[in-house]
Amino acid sequence: MNERDSEAVAAQLVARGYTLAPSEDTADVILLNTCSVRDLAEQKALNKMKSLAGVANKERRSPVLGFMGCMAQSRGQKLIDELPDVDLVLGTQKFHRAAEYLDNILAGTREKIVDVAEEKDSEATIREHLLNGSAKKSVSAFVSIMQGCNQYCTFCIVPYTRGEERSRAIADLVDECRELVSRGVKEITLLGQIVTSYGKRDVPLRDGKSAFVQLLEAVHDIDGLERIRFTSPHPKGYGDDLIDAYARLPKLCESAHLPVQSGSDRILKLMHRGYTREKYLGIIRKLRAARPRIGISTDIIVGFPGETEQDFEETMALAREVEFDQAFVFKYSPRRDTPAAEMPDQIPQRLREERNQALLQTINGIAARKYEDFIGRQAEILVEGPSKKNSARLTGRTRCNKIVVFEGDERHRGQIMDVKITRAGSFTLYGDAAILM
Ligand code: SAH
Repeated sequence: MNERDSEAVAAQLVARGYTLAPSEDTADVILLNTCSVRDLAEQKALNKMKSLAGVANKERRSPVLGFMGCMAQSRGQKLIDELPDVDLVLGTQKFHRAAEYLDNILAGTREKIVDVAEEKDSEATIREHLLNGSAKKSVSAFVSIMQGCNQYCTFCIVPYTRGEERSRAIADLVDECRELVSRGVKEITLLGQIVTSYGKRDVPLRDGKSAFVQLLEAVHDIDGLERIRFTSPHPKGYGDDLIDAYARLPKLCESAHLPVQSGSDRILKLMHRGYTREKYLGIIRKLRAARPRIGISTDIIVGFPGETEQDFEETMALAREVEFDQAFVFKYSPRRDTPAAEMPDQIPQRLREERNQALLQTINGIAARKYEDFIGRQAEILVEGPSKKNSARLTGRTRCNKIVVFEGDERHRGQIMDVKITRAGSFTLYGDAAILM
C-alpha cells in the first residue's frame, strides 16, 4: 500500500515536470514515505532522514526533505521540531498535494509546510500510475480501492493514522483498471487496509453479494485483464459470496493473504479481531474446497500482552494445521495510544524473540516442504520481467503467488506461459520453459 502511495506521488510529480533522480545523492527533493505499524519502521525512517540531512549538510547541498505517510500523520509538526532540516510533512490524506507544496517550497513562497488535516474524497486521489516511468513496462499494477480502517484491533495504529474507511466508486475503479489494461497491464491487485470491507456503507448488497464481490465481478469483466488479486482482507470478509467468487471467477487467482494474528481464542478476543480460531479454520477449509491448490499466506503477532505458553502453543498448532505457504511473523510492538500498549502482562522482549524464532522455524519448515512439492510439476506463470538478483533471468508468479525464476528473454515479459518446476529455493521456485516448448 505504501509502495502504491509512493508511486502515485511520483507520477504526480512527473506529470508536473519533475524527473526521477537516479539516486538520492543528486535529488533536489527527497520524500520518505513512512510506516508506523511497528516501532522499528519509525526508527528506520527517522535514522534515514538524519543521515540524509547529515550528508546534504556536509556536501553543502540543501535538497527539500519531506516525510509523508503514517508517521507524518501521527507526529506532524514534532518531526520538524526534532529534525529542523525537514521542510515538508505530508499526512495520509494529503498525498495529492505533494506537487503543489513542493512547488511552493522550491519557489521560496513558503518555507516549511505541515499538512496532516483530513480531506474529504482523498481516497479517490490515489489513481495516477507510473507504468512507463522507467524503461520497463509494468505487467502487474496495484489499484487502491479504499483508505482507512474501522476495525480498531487493539494492537494497531492504522485507524489513527489512516482515518475512517472511505471507498471509491465502482465505476471510477473500473475506469482506472481499464486504462491500466489498455497500457499493457495483465494483472491487477486491489488494495485496501481491509479490502473486503470495501463499500460496506455505500453500496447495498445485490443478490446477496457484498460491494467487494460486486467490484470483483465488474473488474473481472474487463477484456484483456488476465489475473485479479487483492490484499489485505480480514477473515470477517470471507462470507460465502466471496468463497463462491473464487469458485466462479477464473481470473481471480487462487491465492489469499489471510492475517490470523493468533491461534488462541483468548488472545484473538483481546486483539479485537472479531473471529475465533474455529471460524478461521472453517474459512480455510471452504477456500480449499473451492480451489484445492490455493496458496495461503498470513500475518501472525507473537508476544501480544498476556500471551501465555498455552496461547502460543495454540498458534503453533494452528500453523501446523493450516500449513501456510508463507507467513509474516511479527514481534508485538507497543504503539502509542493503542489499547494493547496499556494492557497488563506485557511480554519481555527476550520471550517475544524466542517465540518469533520458534514459530518461524515451524512455518518455514512447512513452507519449504510445500515448495518442494512443486518440483516436477508444470505451473502457469505471468512473466513480470528480469529477476532482481540476476538480470539475465526472468521472474514470474504462479497463480498461487509463488515466485518462479527461469531462463528466458525480454520477449517473454507480459506473457502467461507454462514452465516446468525443476528446483525449489527459499520462497522461490526455479523453472524451465524450454522443456515444454
Ligand atoms: N490492515 C493491514 C495491516 C497492515 S499491518 C493488513 O491486514 O495487512 C501488517 C501486519 O502488521 C498486521 O497484519 C499485523 O500482523 C502486524 N502488526 C500490526 N500492528 C502491529 C504491532 N503493534 N506489533 C506487531 N505487529 C503488528
